[in-house]
Amino acid sequence: MTANYHTHTPRCRHASGTEREYAENARKGGLRILGFSDHTPYDYSPSAYKSGIRMEVEELGDYVSTLEGLRREYEGQLDIRIGLEVEYYPKLFRRLLDTAKAHGVEYMILGQHFVGNEEGEPYSGQPTDDEGILDRYVKQSIEGLQTGAITYVAHPDLMRYVGDGRIYDRHMRELCRAARDLSIPLEINLLGVRDHRHYPNEAFWRIAGEEGNTAILGADAHTPQDLMNAESEARALDMIRRYGLELTDAPRFRRITTMTQTAEKEET
Ligand SMILES: [Zn+2]
Ligand SMILES: [Zn+2]
Repeated sequence: MTANYHTHTPRCRHASGTEREYAENARKGGLRILGFSDHTPYDYSPSAYKSGIRMEVEELGDYVSTLEGLRREYEGQLDIRIGLEVEYYPKLFRRLLDTAKAHGVEYMILGQHFVGNEEGEPYSGQPTDDEGILDRYVKQSIEGLQTGAITYVAHPDLMRYVGDGRIYDRHMRELCRAARDLSIPLEINLLGVRDHRHYPNEAFWRIAGEEGNTAILGADAHTPQDLMNAESEARALDMIRRYGLELTDAPRFRRITTMTQTAEKEET
């Protein structure tokens, strides 16, 4: 692995280590590119709802300037990129794009941890046999990709559908096809591998292989040590071989702009 675009900071309240420690470990481990993509802030107003897993909107400025400082410091040794891991929330996304753009965020990866607009909705990784939730997860993720702002999909297989495998196949195949048609890579999440989570899901990656998707490895680092883990990397590469997936380490940064059809549609 020479590039990782999925790195958190303590601002999300469930990661540890300073930005410099992440950069130092990345450099020592031989990474050339280190992309930070901490859990995006979201402005839920007029709702008073607060998320416990992301930075506040007010912290975004410091996040970006800290990383810009580190980027200058590491020039010539490590290419630091500044991104966010975002959910696509239809009611809130346009405002997020404006905020991210104003702060100079360079890229967004989609990690659809909740459906709807998060508030009062189930966590996508919670086991469910409800086809409706699976369907919403897939439709909403696809809509997110269609905004044109998304560089890649983080753990697309986070959704934990425990019902009929044929139903899972039908819906997830839709997501794989949409990502393929938009040339958006799907992430094999190394945190899932390291922690023996329900993802990466073999059934999902079999579909992705059949549909000709491109995969990317993402450390999803929540501690600096997470950045280099040869064992999880080897297991992910084995999946890539078994399912005949394309592998990329150079995902395309998209334009973070509000001038997307979906965003326009939301306003009306
Ligand atoms: Zn996290
Ligand atoms: Zn993450």
